[in-house]
Amino acid sequence: QAADALKSIARRQDLKAQVERTPALNGLLRRAAARYVAGDSREDGIEAGRRLLGQEYAISLEYIGENTQDAEACEAAAEELAALVGELWRLGMAARVSFDLSHIGLAADDELAVAQLLGLARRARGTGIELFVSMEESAKTDRILAVYKRAAAEEPGIGITLQAYLNRTPGDLAGLEGIGGPVRIVKGAYREPEEAAIGRSEALNERYLSLVEAALAQGRRVSVATHDETLIEAVAARGWIGQGLEFELLYGIRPDLAGRLKAIGYPVRVYITYGDEWYLYLCHRIAEFPPNLYRAIADIAGG
Ligand code: FAD
Repeated sequence: QAADALKSIARRQDLKAQVERTPALNGLLRRAAARYVAGDSREDGIEAGRRLLGQEYAISLEYIGENTQDAEACEAAAEELAALVGELWRLGMAARVSFDLSHIGLAADDELAVAQLLGLARRARGTGIELFVSMEESAKTDRILAVYKRAAAEEPGIGITLQAYLNRTPGDLAGLEGIGGPVRIVKGAYREPEEAAIGRSEALNERYLSLVEAALAQGRRVSVATHDETLIEAVAARGWIGQGLEFELLYGIRPDLAGRLKAIGYPVRVYITYGDEWYLYLCHRIAEFPPNLYRAIADIAGG
């Protein structure tokens, strides 16, 4: 419930405006967000990416945003992503660019989302920059998959994220047979109806592993996107590393673990975010793992 409360706080535009109008509060929260968000600008994201590439991590970049209703704002978000692709290419940086479809059109209209996704894929074609669709609440799963399938039929390199906690996901993965590119498997970050999903548990980890196995069997590259060490060890024990599998962790979360996995020689990608919606992202990370609230307070006090 606390997690739900935080997520609704994140989406309250009046509170966000209040934070923006109150420089002292804004400054304090920014200090806490700095652990998870590279900065406000594209340059900040790229700079963090350059640093991590220098340390031999692969990188993903996300321009933070979701649920954008206004068509002009969707257009602006897609333009930012296209500019990001162009800049990464100009700088010769290998990267993955991730985004919510609801940031670039899905919240307004499915056709707009398809058009934006295809436009971005054409921009990314031949650059070596990989586009990756994130997964949102289960109320949107059908539409996200439908938009993805339409775009991937024309631009097969686009990747998609699947959530192991949803009971429907093994069927969704089977339904992608022969379509699209790499998959990222995550546990899932939203509060879902009881009949739709399972909670954090051994059963969830078992399902997660069987999804990884099924995706590899489809010949896909797979990103195991988790900070759960037990799960990571189970993946390593199955001997799947070297078959197009990598680990992917969020910037600022368990960097010690990312470093250890890299030192063993496993491929590790770090998922970096940037943008002025850092407040939304901070609330999401605290909701996902409430002890982060204490960390945020310590960051504020110590900064
Ligand atoms: P958990 O069982 O939740 O956590 C395991 C351990 O990891 C915890 O005990 C703790 O030590 C550590 N940990 C986990 N989360 C945090 C945190 N926030 N702060 C500090 N420590 C933490 N979800 C979606 O629904 N859609 C997406 O598109 C999506 N994309 C993602 C992309 C990447 C690269 C990653 C890494 C995650 C993504 N997520 C997405 C979030 C994901 O669904 C989980 O909510 C998140 O990864 C936490 O779950 P976990 O697998 O780490 O395991």
